[in-house]
Amino acid sequence: AGHVRFDGVRFGYDPDRAILKGIDLDVPAGTTLAVVGPSGAGKSTLARLLYRFYDVDEGAITIDGQDIAAVTQASLREAIGIVPQDTVLFNDTIGYNIAYGRADADQAQVERAAQGAAIAGFIERQPDGYATRVGERGLKLSGGEKQRVAIARTLLKDPPILILDEATSALDSRTEGEILATLNEIERGRTTIVIAHRLSTIVHADQIVVLDGGVAAERGTHAELLRRG
Ligand code: ADP
Ligand code: ADP
Repeated sequence: AGHVRFDGVRFGYDPDRAILKGIDLDVPAGTTLAVVGPSGAGKSTLARLLYRFYDVDEGAITIDGQDIAAVTQASLREAIGIVPQDTVLFNDTIGYNIAYGRADADQAQVERAAQGAAIAGFIERQPDGYATRVGERGLKLSGGEKQRVAIARTLLKDPPILILDEATSALDSRTEGEILATLNEIERGRTTIVIAHRLSTIVHADQIVVLDGGVAAERGTHAELLRRG
């Protein structure tokens, strides 16, 4: 599950100014699509449309053949996990932040998610309630630690589709390398849409689309795009 398609998608925040002018994408289940392009090209907008923050003006987005306009918001959000560039956390424990909105999750599941995101060292088992951050440093998590919390949230949700919207862009290069390694693990078996600036970081993508001027200006694999210059 998790076959994503965009067919002739047109969208503008202002009806007179289209940001996306007829985008076609076909992302088979379990594969990775990278979307690159200059700042302002509409990369994040494309991700927001898939999550249905906004409805398309024309065309359709489908998941496994079903138009997302006909799917409930709740089931769409269950199907898609997002790791944004900057994760905003509640001023509460790591466990609370990981489990937020998932009243059905138990302690063991939260701990497993924390482990998968390599942040388990920060939580400890409490006699009641969710795992707590050792030491209670409030919101003093580093950027990389915050991204690990976002990854743990995603693991707890276990969605077939992942959106990584410049998930490591705000990090220093060493932390970026560490988080990318964790992301590569959670991408396995999921349909993934990676939004990126530089081609060099998305060598592993099954297909790359270059957005420019509201259209898919180029598409291909990493090697094909390099060959074309
Ligand atoms: P990218 O992710 O490629 O940098 P965005 O999708 O963020 O591009 O933005 C595409 C265009 O849409 C930009 O011109 C931006 O200013 C505009 N835009 C983005 N978000 C909004 C919004 N919420 N309301 C109006 N315009 C927006
Ligand atoms: P920037 O200059 O904004 O850092 P990059 O092209 O270097 O642009 O990377 C953009 C984003 O692509 C990164 O922040 C990261 O979230 C994502 N990305 C790159 N490679 C991977 C990968 N292997 N797995 C998941 N996400 C990736």
